[in-house]
Amino acid sequence: MTPRGGRAASAVSRRDFIKLSGVGGALGTLAGLGASLAPAVAHATTLRIQSASAVPTVCPYCAVGCGMIAHAVNGQIVNIEGNPDSPVNEGNLCPKGAASYQLAVNERRWTTVKHRAPGADHWEDMPLDQAMDRIAELFKQTRDATFQERTPDGKTLMNTTAIFSLGGATIDNEWNYAHSKLMRGLGVVAVENQARI
Ligand code: SF4
Repeated sequence: MTPRGGRAASAVSRRDFIKLSGVGGALGTLAGLGASLAPAVAHATTLRIQSASAVPTVCPYCAVGCGMIAHAVNGQIVNIEGNPDSPVNEGNLCPKGAASYQLAVNERRWTTVKHRAPGADHWEDMPLDQAMDRIAELFKQTRDATFQERTPDGKTLMNTTAIFSLGGATIDNEWNYAHSKLMRGLGVVAVENQARI
């Protein structure tokens, strides 16, 4: 049978075979010949999660809130996939959600904040804890200096328009709710979130 989108292995000439081998290596060659890698990939995944604990969780990327299962071995995430029991996505994930393993496990992930001091011409790495303290310090300073309790004619305001909160794409519904409560409680009226799907 000819696999969908491919061609029968018998129809591949020697020239084609050499060409494919040169370009893509062993896996590329198999795929190029129309052989499905799906069973091999599925088997490799099964081996990887064989002794792992499975934790149901929710995709952090957008407000759809697709269900996921995170597999962990010795406290380390080894795999994340769609949760077939979720009524939201029934095991499916969009490309962004399907790549969420790389959000958790990624040697290229930044673990410090880039900071450019006032007047400086270069960026420096600042540890996260230090960055959090600095943000809290500036937040309080700005709020204290700009908080408005009332309008000039005496109407209650209790806000500051000097602080703007912008959430990122990895903030999920629950955190957005808590964050919104925190900001409103502090009198911040400009609150936005980046994720809009
Ligand atoms: S980013 Fe994709 S997988 Fe994640 S919740 Fe949204 S639609 Fe679902």
